[in-house]
Amino acid sequence: MAKTYRIKEEHPRCLECGDEIVYGRSDKKFCGVSCRARYHNREAGSSKSRMRILSILDRNYSILEGLLSLEITSIGNAELGALGFNHEVITSSAKIRGHTEVSCFDIRYFRSETKIFNIHRAVSAPLAGWQPDGSMNKRH
Ligand SMILES: [Zn+2]
Repeated sequence: MAKTYRIKEEHPRCLECGDEIVYGRSDKKFCGVSCRARYHNREAGSSKSRMRILSILDRNYSILEGLLSLEITSIGNAELGALGFNHEVITSSAKIRGHTEVSCFDIRYFRSETKIFNIHRAVSAPLAGWQPDGSMNKRH
């Protein structure tokens, strides 16, 4: 018989929760029926790519927030890459005085070939979590 079996070094991962699928056939996509149902319920609005992009934005934002909390306003692309930063996914960009200013929600920075710099929080626009008494809903 010409049937070929491939030995995979990694188990496939559940498309919904990302857990390794240890049991079952190698083409299994979900760890269980609840994940399969959740995934397909969401698929209606092509939300797979939307969720992926949102999770990348969320990670980028966490990295930028972390840098700001350490008062780091400039960092090399290699270091950013090591932190898991993804340059492809941003919320907006604009040319300002010959530089590209990039926004990830309310955090903005300039981008060059080798680094990002002048990382800062935009202060103008009120945020969704703003309260009339001036306090903020913290994200965490
Ligand atoms: Zn799962």
